[in-house]
Amino acid sequence: MKIFIDGKLYGERDAKISVFDHGLLYGDGVFEGIRAYHGRVFKLKEHIERLFYSAKAILLEIPMTAEQVSAAVLETCRANKIRDGYIRLVVTRGVGTLGLNPKSCGRPSVIIIVGKIQLYPQELYEHGMAIATVPTARNLHSAVNPAIKSLNYLNNILAKIEANNAGVEEAVMLNAEGFVAECTGDNLFIVKKGQLLTPPLSAGALYGITRQTVIELALESGVKVSETNLTRYDLFTADECFLTGTGAEIMPVIKIDARVIGAGKPGPLTRRLVEDYHAFTKTTGEPI
Ligand code: PMP
Repeated sequence: MKIFIDGKLYGERDAKISVFDHGLLYGDGVFEGIRAYHGRVFKLKEHIERLFYSAKAILLEIPMTAEQVSAAVLETCRANKIRDGYIRLVVTRGVGTLGLNPKSCGRPSVIIIVGKIQLYPQELYEHGMAIATVPTARNLHSAVNPAIKSLNYLNNILAKIEANNAGVEEAVMLNAEGFVAECTGDNLFIVKKGQLLTPPLSAGALYGITRQTVIELALESGVKVSETNLTRYDLFTADECFLTGTGAEIMPVIKIDARVIGAGKPGPLTRRLVEDYHAFTKTTGEPI
């Protein structure tokens, strides 16, 4: 495997960054998770745009242009002969001193790792997943804004641990007001009377690229989509529920906090959107 670090490709053993990098010391940096399907990088432009927005929000200047980062992603895919896979694009604050002041950091580092990802067992995609709400609330907008895809994922990791401790694979994170925000690495949708509902981004969700794709696919097929605050009650009484994310793709949910959702199996609209999503990934993307 070849890994891109600051303009050069390294073998796996030599792909190293300093222990003084503030990405390691403080989680100071930003990242993207991107997929390649059928020899094309899916939604590359959108991922690069979100990376630059995240960087801007934390006053981190990426030492490459968006076009250069795009070209580096494609180059790393080619070097690894990847047609289908997962790409992790990371920008760290760079090497600094032991104090947290980012002024001590010289130059941010750009890292691109290409590999495979399977977040959940295939069986769950066929039969659906159980999820649970957890005590850890989603970050406040006034704290680390949840729209920033930063290297500090402890908010989500704590929620994930709590979900696992409760015996399920994924957590529903509520915001400080008690409305549904999202899951630890995915956005959440429900279906109610044929309509698709998902929390607004202001509820504390990441601007999910899969979320946006699913919204567009639903609208194209005549399904009404509403971005609206959801409570746990709305989840429990939904006809269908599913999660969206680059890594997870579309995961049907059949149980939330021990309440069976709909018929207890992936619903018809969920299944249709899964099909439409996979068909769409075959026809779009930046050629490698
Ligand atoms: N929410 C969080 C917290 C995430 O980390 C992610 C990405 N894994 C998502 C939602 C889904 O976003 P996307 O569809 O852009 O991958």
